[in-house]
Amino acid sequence: MAIAKRQFDAVVVGAGGSGLRAALHLAEANLKVAVLSKVFPTRSHTVAAQGGVAAALGNSEEDNWHWHMYDTVKGSDYLGDQDAIEFMCRKANEAVYELEHFGMPFDRTPDGKIYQRPFGGHMQDYGKKPVPRACAAADRTGHAMLHTLYQRNVRARTQFFVEWMALDLIRDQSGDVLGVVAMEMETGEVMIFQARATLLATGGAGRIFASSTNAFINTGDGLGMVARAGLPLQDMEFFQFHPTGVYGAGILITEGVRGEGGYLLNKNGERFMERYAPNAKDLASRDVVSRSMVTEIKEGRGVGKDADHVLLKLDHLGAEVINRRLPGIREISIKFANVDPIKEPIPVVPTAHYMMGGIPANYHGQVVALGGNGFVAVVRGLYAAGECACVSVHGANRLGCNSLLDLLVFGRAAAQQIIDDLKRDPYPKPLPAGAADRPLARLARLETQKDGESVAEVAAAMRRVMQAYCGVFRFGDLLKQGVAKIKEVAERSGHTMISDKSKVFNTARVEALELDNLIEVAMATMISAEARTESRGAHARDDYPNRDDENWLKHTLYFKNGYRLHYKPVTLRPLTVEPFQPKARVY
Ligand SMILES: Cc1cc2nc3c(=O)[nH]c(=O)nc-3n(C[C@H](O)[C@H](O)[C@H](O)COP(=O)(O)OP(=O)(O)OC[C@H]3O[C@@H](n4cnc5c(N)ncnc54)[C@H](O)[C@@H]3O)c2cc1C
Repeated sequence: MAIAKRQFDAVVVGAGGSGLRAALHLAEANLKVAVLSKVFPTRSHTVAAQGGVAAALGNSEEDNWHWHMYDTVKGSDYLGDQDAIEFMCRKANEAVYELEHFGMPFDRTPDGKIYQRPFGGHMQDYGKKPVPRACAAADRTGHAMLHTLYQRNVRARTQFFVEWMALDLIRDQSGDVLGVVAMEMETGEVMIFQARATLLATGGAGRIFASSTNAFINTGDGLGMVARAGLPLQDMEFFQFHPTGVYGAGILITEGVRGEGGYLLNKNGERFMERYAPNAKDLASRDVVSRSMVTEIKEGRGVGKDADHVLLKLDHLGAEVINRRLPGIREISIKFANVDPIKEPIPVVPTAHYMMGGIPANYHGQVVALGGNGFVAVVRGLYAAGECACVSVHGANRLGCNSLLDLLVFGRAAAQQIIDDLKRDPYPKPLPAGAADRPLARLARLETQKDGESVAEVAAAMRRVMQAYCGVFRFGDLLKQGVAKIKEVAERSGHTMISDKSKVFNTARVEALELDNLIEVAMATMISAEARTESRGAHARDDYPNRDDENWLKHTLYFKNGYRLHYKPVTLRPLTVEPFQPKARVY
């Protein structure tokens, strides 16, 4: 079957903050850039980011990048690579000022500087007391960022392919990546996007869980593509549960609420975080707050008829502060919890939020894999940035506001690396025979499968398994059962059927293709979690309650083929400063 082909210097898959930041740098360097997105760029999930972007600007209190670096290393539970963390924290101020100059409408202090609010784990002077480091545009920072970057891309003449879904990578015999095969979602037309550089910026995969703050499009497509291409996924056992999802709905209530002075209460009206984190209290790191909430609920101090959630109180901030700084939160709370936070506390519960693991990449955005000799090697032609990448700056637990920063810093860095690589290596390689065979076979199966379960049924089963067997607290026997159950679900996903009726709008086909990716992510998460016999950051095991630096200060690499796990050391050496040695993590 003849397939249409387009050639570009670079193809960026994803139009969220990371994809747009990268595309802008590439287009401004006069490269021919295509950006593919399943949704209109400004509907990418970055739009939902509420609280802010981290940078030690020190606009209202003293701050510096080295304190930010310390907090990030500590927040990562020492699993973050310290070279990448130094790189990100050093570049933070520049990245935020750049955005300001692009036209980002940040809130302002009375003297006209960018407004900053406190956030979980952001501390002054190596952990002494909270510091305002989150640069915010009300509680709609991601929305403002995405629109700013999109407008700059339009000006730079980036070419957008909207509602085009990338299906699979094209790799040649030597393992180099030469582009992607994609499908136009409306028509089903399949096309090859050939490029000298392919950047994956496909965002997170929160939809593997039943209760999630993530949008329906967050299905881990980049990770699925990488796994099917025989490349590893890194640190997939580390999935962040945000403490404050709206009870029953999962929608996020930003940590910025606690940054502005809100706090959590149990059924006795006790501000219980004072017991768990006497110093940082409600602004302790997310994994710490989530576990404290679940402990309160498990020990019978939860709220409501089933005693299964806690309350977030902010009415004491007053209507003026809530309406000015947190207008979106008030709206979410009224719509999804039927509670006006000016008068009453919001019912909240921890909810799956952010994937710390992902496609292994270095801090130049180059995707890395294990070479034949077991050493880490760069995959030529393939780059990754944003939530789909594991650089790893977030290690075992991400600090709030470090993701938007990561998008800006590593989106730009990956683009710069592409520019440099293309100067050295300007000629496109020929496509291998059968470049589109894999995705065409996936599509063909959907056409020919005549009976079987619906995609929705199998997806729901996957979400139930992930939620029940791989949640905030993990148990050895449950993880073992979880591995068996998720393998069963993966097997079922190979026999799903879409009815002729549901093909009309092609959404059923898209959902089936997305399920392939979700399953890859779910398998990697469960299998990696079962194998890691320690508790670190977001991975909290009941049977191994302590961090074990002697045996586990290492990154997991999961390979789809044979469900193999390999491990590689954490980079403890920063670029220019002294390393932060692992120590007990208290807030
Ligand atoms: C509710 C919420 C609030 C948050 N608040 C904050 C915050 O205040 N501060 C902070 O730092 N972080 C925050 N985060 C985290 C942060 O927003 C995300 O990690 C980040 O925005 C992800 O950006 P991204 O560029 O990696 O991907 P996204 O913005 O998710 O974009 C992914 C893009 O990839 C495209 N795509 C995916 N698959 C395909 C495919 N197969 N083919 C073509 N295109 C594809 C999508 O269409 C989309 O354009 C929040 C997250 C959530 C869920």
